[in-house]
Amino acid sequence: MAFVPSRCPNTACPQHREPEGRFYYRHGVYRPRCRDGAVPRFRCRRCGKAFSPQTFRHDYRDRKPEHNELVFHLLSSGVGLRQIGRVTGLAPSSVQMKMRKMGRTCRWLHRNLCRTLPAGKTYLLDEEETYEGASIRTVTVPVVIERESWFVIAVTAGPTRRLAARGTRRRLWQERDERRRGRRRDRSKTCVRQVLNRLRQVSAEGSLVLRTDEKSSYRAVARQLFGDRLLHETTLGSLARTTANPLFAINTTIAMTRDNCGRLRRRSWLVSKRCLCLRLQMHVFVAYRNYVRQRFNRDADRQLSSAASLGLLPRALSVGELLRWRQDWGQRSNHPLSFLGERAVADSMSEPA
Ligand SMILES: [Zn+2]
Repeated sequence: MAFVPSRCPNTACPQHREPEGRFYYRHGVYRPRCRDGAVPRFRCRRCGKAFSPQTFRHDYRDRKPEHNELVFHLLSSGVGLRQIGRVTGLAPSSVQMKMRKMGRTCRWLHRNLCRTLPAGKTYLLDEEETYEGASIRTVTVPVVIERESWFVIAVTAGPTRRLAARGTRRRLWQERDERRRGRRRDRSKTCVRQVLNRLRQVSAEGSLVLRTDEKSSYRAVARQLFGDRLLHETTLGSLARTTANPLFAINTTIAMTRDNCGRLRRRSWLVSKRCLCLRLQMHVFVAYRNYVRQRFNRDADRQLSSAASLGLLPRALSVGELLRWRQDWGQRSNHPLSFLGERAVADSMSEPA
């Protein structure tokens, strides 16, 4: 069984969007240094560009792609970039580059696979607070999940401006910081709107239930985005955080982010220097949580991921499958469960493998 090019990888070529039969011909082989054996090369009859199976892969142009799976496992196990470098023998900057590329692939993968969620579901929203660089530069990380599968629908991270009481040392520090860097922006509401808008895009028509705490801005934003479709249930923040708490699933998911992402731990050195990189790490977490990890430890079926329990995929993905194909071509990217690359993400929407 050999790799079948599903389309021309040149996005400007007509054979990329609508490939026809044998749009390519064989064009020799090459022997990559990082893999055993020969890799076939092809050439597009239309645009004349040469390509190989490698052009379709996530690790296209990677140095040392053999470390990618281990790097992903460690990134989703709360290990810091420097320590991952020590374990794998990579430079910290290489680990950082790999993390960013994986973050982008994971973001695309989630966007490609999570198109429409079943109707009649209950969703939970909450924000966790962290910081970038120094503890005075606070950051909010809103997270939306589905209640039964614990599937993470959307997550983002943005700056918030939380001033300490006047005259305190912390406030003086903040004022000094703002004089140097300019007034800190507060994107809390925008970030909440972003994640809820994503929920609106993927949730099926009809009514849905959203559970949050009593923060007043949630009600306004949700009402604006969903209108009468929405039943909004709020829970008192003072209620004990037990399994009986209506927000138990989101509270635990946020605890999981702190466990799986080293940079979200409290009192740790691993803090993000920039919000952007925190977002990339969160995309790695979301891919791990939704597509790789078993839904609950108590589930007998170890292949039942959160995505599988929602019917988005037939089973959990291995990290090798998750990071197999590049996903930046949207629905035209190869499906992660398509071993030979013959099926695109769009093909399997109606007919799962
Ligand atoms: Zn072409």
